[in-house]
Parts: sequence; C-alpha cells; structure tokens
Amino acid sequence: MRDWNTADLIHFYTALRDAHGLQHWWPADTAFETIIGAILAQNVSWRGARQAVCALQEADLMDADILYQAGQDTIAPLIRSSRYYNQKARKIMTFLSWFLETCDGDVSRMASLPTDQVREELLNLSGFGPETVDSILLYALEKPVFVVDAYTRRIGSRQGWFEDDASYDQMQEFFMNRLSPDVPLYNDYHAQIVYLGNKLCKKTPLCSICPVRDTGSTRCQYARPE
Ligand code: SF4
Repeated sequence: MRDWNTADLIHFYTALRDAHGLQHWWPADTAFETIIGAILAQNVSWRGARQAVCALQEADLMDADILYQAGQDTIAPLIRSSRYYNQKARKIMTFLSWFLETCDGDVSRMASLPTDQVREELLNLSGFGPETVDSILLYALEKPVFVVDAYTRRIGSRQGWFEDDASYDQMQEFFMNRLSPDVPLYNDYHAQIVYLGNKLCKKTPLCSICPVRDTGSTRCQYARPE
C-alpha cells in the first residue's frame, strides 16, 4: 500500500470531476432544509430522503419553530419514505430542541459558533453519528470538514488509501491531513465519491469504465482486468 500525497488526491478528484461533472451538492433551498435533509438521509437512498423533505415542505413545516411545535407524531407519517421514520422524527425533535435553545433557531448563529464546539455538541445528541454531523457542518454551515461514508471505505480500501477496517476518524484524517481546508473542494470531493460508489465502484465494480482505474498518476490496486 503506497502513501498517497496531496497531488495524487487532487489528480484523483479531477479525473472524477472531468468524467462526471460537478455534483452540485447539497440540493436544498436553505441551510435549515440541508440540516433536516442530512438527518433524513441516514441509511436510505437520496430519493427516499428527498421525498420526505418535500412532504415537510408541502405541509409548510420547513421552519424550526413550526416544525418543533408540530411535534414527533405529526412529523413521523410525513417522512415515511425516509425509512426508520419514527426514529428520524425523534432525531429531528432532538436536534430542534438543541437548535432552538442554543442557536435560537438561527442557522447563521449556529455557523458562528466554533466548529469543534458544534461538532461535539451535535455528536452528543442521541442518534447523531459523525457522518450526519459532518454533513451538517460541511453542507449546511460551510465548514471545512471532510465527510466520509461507506462508499469512501469501499473505494479507499480498493484504491489503497487505507485498510477496509479503518475507523471513521482515520478515513477523515486521511483526507484532512492531505487536502487544504477548502469548502468547495470538500463539498464536491465527497459528492464525487458517492457518485463513484453508487454508479461504478459497486460490490461488483465496473472497472473497465471507471475514470480512476488508471489516471497515469494514480492506479487502483483492486482494478479488475479488462
Ligand atoms: S477501478 Fe474498479 S475497484 Fe477501482 S475505484 Fe474504479 S470501479 Fe472501484
């Protein structure tokens, strides 16, 4: 397993962006909607999460005070498409309780707090893991925090970035130790990895049409023969 440097990682990203175009994440009208979307997107396809976001919008609930007043019993049936909807309704209420008390329901106030403080406080909320919290930090608050997920693990172990049992923190450090803290880069890099994992680097990978199979500067150590 060779060590990847900054230039390798930029080259890898550029190859994906050139092949698939900018991904334009996060598809939401407001930062608050991005936060709710990040909670709803846990362990479900984006399609299911998006349907749930739309249902909350159509019910005129996409506002922190209004959503909190509506309560868990109203939210849960509306977000059924996001799976585990009772759990997710509870998580939304947990977040809103913290958000209203700590930030007065104001995303810009939340963004003005130190990143480490917000990260720690959100991780202390019941049901909030690092992927959801870091998605909120990067995509809603525009903080330079790299998001990793199951696709990152699969692609990273195949490319030779880290072992397939690397922890969340180890995977995140791999990127953050090599890439400068650049929000637009972190935004699209994670989105490109999700696209690659979803479309090409599947359980049975489609290596023959993969743009990062062999870029000249980097080569996938797992790539299947043509
Ligand atoms: S070459 Fe194959 S294994 Fe490597 S990243 Fe592409 S699809 Fe995945």
